[in-house]
Amino acid sequence: MAMLDEKSLDLMRRLMEAFGPSGFEREVTAIVKSYMEPYSDEVVSDKLGSVTFVSKGSSERPRVLLAGHVDEVGFIVSSITDEGFLTFNPLGGWWSQVLLGQRVVIRTNKGDIHGTIAAKPPHILPEEERKKVVEMKDMFIDIGATSREEAEATGVKIGDPVVPWSPFQLLHDGKVAMGKAFDDRIGAFVIMEAMRRLKEKGISHPNTVYGAATVQEEVGLRGAQTISHVVDPDVAVVVEVDIAGDVPGIKAHEAPTKMGRGPGLVTFDRSMIPNQAFKEFIIEVARQTQIPLQLSQMYGGGTDAGRIHIHKAGCPTAVITVPTRHIHSHVGLLSLRDTENAIRLVIELIKRLDAERVESFTKI
Ligand SMILES: [Zn+2]
Repeated sequence: MAMLDEKSLDLMRRLMEAFGPSGFEREVTAIVKSYMEPYSDEVVSDKLGSVTFVSKGSSERPRVLLAGHVDEVGFIVSSITDEGFLTFNPLGGWWSQVLLGQRVVIRTNKGDIHGTIAAKPPHILPEEERKKVVEMKDMFIDIGATSREEAEATGVKIGDPVVPWSPFQLLHDGKVAMGKAFDDRIGAFVIMEAMRRLKEKGISHPNTVYGAATVQEEVGLRGAQTISHVVDPDVAVVVEVDIAGDVPGIKAHEAPTKMGRGPGLVTFDRSMIPNQAFKEFIIEVARQTQIPLQLSQMYGGGTDAGRIHIHKAGCPTAVITVPTRHIHSHVGLLSLRDTENAIRLVIELIKRLDAERVESFTKI
């Protein structure tokens, strides 16, 4: 099996280490744009910040939208205390238990500054307090300042964005990647690599492909709405992370996919019930091309597909996933083999999504 080359792995590292919580994605979309320009026939963007790369095939329609969001969960500075500490609100969903003691980066007009979400030492914690989860509203970031004046001198102000500090690494003989922001830059990565291969290998396709790096998913699928308007897709594939359920304490009915067993296909989540004909088509393509595929379900979450599938008169949409351990924390883990298989599956779908096929998904 072809695997990710050095250029791909370098892109993965740069995407994951880039700074870009919801609403502050410009650094990431710039990386996406410069990487994709040589592999695109056209670049189109919307006015919210999402950017889309076009690959023109043998037919103008159907328009196939591939979408992966490039914002990451982070924080936004809500106040500076008299003592020089920063309070913050979440950008996206966080469980406060994963935060204490973690390093963060704050982006200011004067540059990036570093800090830590401080925790009280155990010596001074009363027994009951030790058993409790500290709420985010009671947490603060320590940037090393000893007064408000010192803190403000760094350039930091209310409204500045914050992300986890978390270097990208390969583990387990290079088979597993560890880092932040896999949710959902791995989705954007899969789409970028699929489109790069279309171009490099001259793969023909009976449609026009729009590969989109969307913004502001973690705060309510906002980029999906504006990019749907720009692309006006006939069919869509969202590439996302999945909650890998193969970790202690997670039950199969909560998260059925496992890291390393292939990409997932979402059968249901809170934001979308997929078009059933399209879903069955994807299962059949995976079977024919011998790409491992896991069926997934997530009762509590949603993706950009939640907006895309109800665009205008509706758009058959599916979500293909890369099972990822420990999402929405400083450090996630995923399999490079699953990532490669997701790229292969996306390419096999692009090759087969012609007008007749796409019309068949909605025929009554
Ligand atoms: Zn997420």
